[in-house]
Amino acid sequence: PTLRSPDQWCRSFSHFISQCLIKDFEARPSVTHLLEHPFIKQAHGKDEALRQQLAALIQEQQEFSYKSKTKHERINSRKTLIVESCPGDDLVNLEFLDEETIISHLHKRYDELQVYTYVGDILIALNPFQNLSIYSPQFSKLYHGVKRADNPPHIFATADAAYQGMVTFCKDQCIIISGESGAGKTESAHLIVQHLTFLGKANNRSLREKILQVNPLVEAFGNACTAINDNSSRFGKYLEMKFSPTGAVVGAKISEYLLEKSRVIKQAAGEKNFHIFYYMYAGLHHQDKLKTYRLPDRTPPRYIDSHQCKVMHDIVSRKLYKEQFDAIQECFRNIGFTEEEVISVYRILSAILNTGNIEFAAITSQHQTDKSEVPNSEALENAASLLSIGADELQEALTSQCVVTRGETIIRTNSVDKATDVRDAMSKALYGRLFSWIVNRINSLLQPDVNICAAESCMNVGILDIFGFENFKKNSFEQLCINIANEQIQFYFNQHIFALEQMEYQSEGVDASLVEYEDNRPILDMFLQKPMGLLSLLDEESRFPQATDQTLVDKFEDNLRCKYFWIPKRVELCFGIQHYAGKVMYCVNGFLEKNRDTLPADIVLVLRTSENKLLQQLFSSPLTKTGNLATSRARVTAASRSLPPQLGSGRSKVDTMEMMRHPDETTNMRRQTVASYFRYSLMDLLSKMVVGQPHFVRCIKPNDDRQALRLCRERVMVQLRYTGILEMANIRRQGYSHRILFEEFVPRYYYLAFRAHQMPETSKENVVLILERTKLEHWVLGKTKVFLKYYHVEQLNLLLRGVM
Ligand code: ADP
Ligand code: MG
Repeated sequence: PTLRSPDQWCRSFSHFISQCLIKDFEARPSVTHLLEHPFIKQAHGKDEALRQQLAALIQEQQEFSYKSKTKHERINSRKTLIVESCPGDDLVNLEFLDEETIISHLHKRYDELQVYTYVGDILIALNPFQNLSIYSPQFSKLYHGVKRADNPPHIFATADAAYQGMVTFCKDQCIIISGESGAGKTESAHLIVQHLTFLGKANNRSLREKILQVNPLVEAFGNACTAINDNSSRFGKYLEMKFSPTGAVVGAKISEYLLEKSRVIKQAAGEKNFHIFYYMYAGLHHQDKLKTYRLPDRTPPRYIDSHQCKVMHDIVSRKLYKEQFDAIQECFRNIGFTEEEVISVYRILSAILNTGNIEFAAITSQHQTDKSEVPNSEALENAASLLSIGADELQEALTSQCVVTRGETIIRTNSVDKATDVRDAMSKALYGRLFSWIVNRINSLLQPDVNICAAESCMNVGILDIFGFENFKKNSFEQLCINIANEQIQFYFNQHIFALEQMEYQSEGVDASLVEYEDNRPILDMFLQKPMGLLSLLDEESRFPQATDQTLVDKFEDNLRCKYFWIPKRVELCFGIQHYAGKVMYCVNGFLEKNRDTLPADIVLVLRTSENKLLQQLFSSPLTKTGNLATSRARVTAASRSLPPQLGSGRSKVDTMEMMRHPDETTNMRRQTVASYFRYSLMDLLSKMVVGQPHFVRCIKPNDDRQALRLCRERVMVQLRYTGILEMANIRRQGYSHRILFEEFVPRYYYLAFRAHQMPETSKENVVLILERTKLEHWVLGKTKVFLKYYHVEQLNLLLRGVM
């Protein structure tokens, strides 16, 4: 009672906390409670030193409690979640491997907050839908370079395996995270980055911080609130962390795939635009800068209030948005964006919001019926001013177009509908290119310093976090693309786990009873084949100006004859697909337009006149997504050898060149559609993945209500079934996940049986000799390779570390 100011109050409490916690670990929840106290909260905001002191105290306390507990106490304490590893950690160890057993097993573990389970070297991650205390630095230490079986399954263990694999074998690694929307992919990706930055001890603290801020920054622009997930990724992301040969983090690079640009102009009921718009609004409002950016302060712009629910108060008053805005500012600054660049980014975003408010009215005159003008010049002027272009020129580009026919240039006026489409196309193009620019800029800022690590000697761990399989009440072109990408990932998974494994057994003369699995190759063929695959048909139809939704459906119906495709009898303008993950009905409404994604040349030309440097850059030349054209092309060719034929072969040089252009670029060459660009992106992605050693994380959503500790057996069953986890467990149990050539095995492991200077012959006999010395069992010899189970390799590496 004598402590009057929050400061005094806090200081004395920090003393109290340390006292009470050292004695009683179980008092920890009450500390968390204390932190919620208004006094402490108030002081938090003002006093950074105090905040850090408190955080450090709590951290210290947790570590102290952990160390002071006996193993037994730890097992019994569900709060700390440290339990010893046990055979049940790996489904492969279960005696019976039927669906029922697997699901009961996972259910029991989930109830005990054991959200991770292995199937061989694959990690199953059930979304806990609550914060667990198992991701602290203390846990990072626990999962550092140890044998996997020493600890319970964990996402850090997967990151550690990738890191150890990279360092030990000097080979790139990739971690592929898959699962439905809301299953926990993005969170898993963050945790992997967190652990990898820990393992790759960047001497340079600022680099570590920069890398950790890449995800939040990119996600502010690429994630949005959907019906399923409040932070749903609306783009695919492949993050490569770059390491020096000694294993220190030296840089990072992101590739983005298929940003859902249509969200900028319209959102489904109950969904929102990309986060950044709301963050910006709240942030600028707070700084009293809405006027500077010509944003209205009463009625929210249409693009962020497309359901007209007048959410203005909500948008500006949301404390969380404002905090996120501050955090994003911090990310921009830390990663190295200049003040000028950041201002340009907000100017373009504000211009997009103003563009959305431009309206059109029909002008009817005797001669022309299809003509429109802008009645509300304010929005037009705002947009033009923010883009540093002339308002008249912008109006002209929106309401008319230059057409060249038979060598003659004529000007055609746009109807209201057409002008509205052009307006929205411009907004989408602005946002899409801005997003690509941000990604490219981050990449150039996080490039490894050549003085520290030459580009050739860098090693990578890539982390793929791609949008999950989607099946809504109404599914459109976006869902189709997302689901095809998921088919492709599933195909890669199958290839890796099942097909390649079986082929190898056979060619090496090793007996392994063949395991049946659901091959999704025919579905992929149906989508990607040329010229009769669904995407090719869509492209063909998109080229006819007269095509309609009906002609498109007819075309599909006439040409796609396979059991995975059907046209429903009662619903119009729809088609159904039997995906590996279930049946999805697609509504073709808008498919053609979305695929064409036209951005009229008039708009490009007017935007090029801008005085804004960033804008000039966005529209000056086609943005190549992956930087250097030559290297990308080389990679594409290299990868095509190991890809399914529809992706790998038959691509001419012109095709590849064409793929490198930005999808919405209008040039004299044949226009590139979203579908063809998408096909290229998929291939580019695969080409990156196939060069590395893959690690798989399968995220599972336990229920649809985002509730902690509730596992809906039916929902989990479906996901287990279509991801092939049952077959996977089988093949992993019988299978040998590592096959090493004799000539690779001997130099790698001869220390285990020979003297360092001996350098024995790389013969089969010496392989046997080494393995017999290590007393490992159940390995198998093929014609040229030794077949090892994943635990053999772990054991061998551990032994090796012991003798070296
Ligand atoms: P996805 O990327 O698969 O769509 P997210 O990673 O965005 O899914 O996860 C959805 C939500 O689930 C997150 O916003 C978070 O609330 C919760 N979640 C996921 N993984 C975890 C985790 N490991 N710990 C706590 N909450 C999690
Ligand atoms: Mg996500």
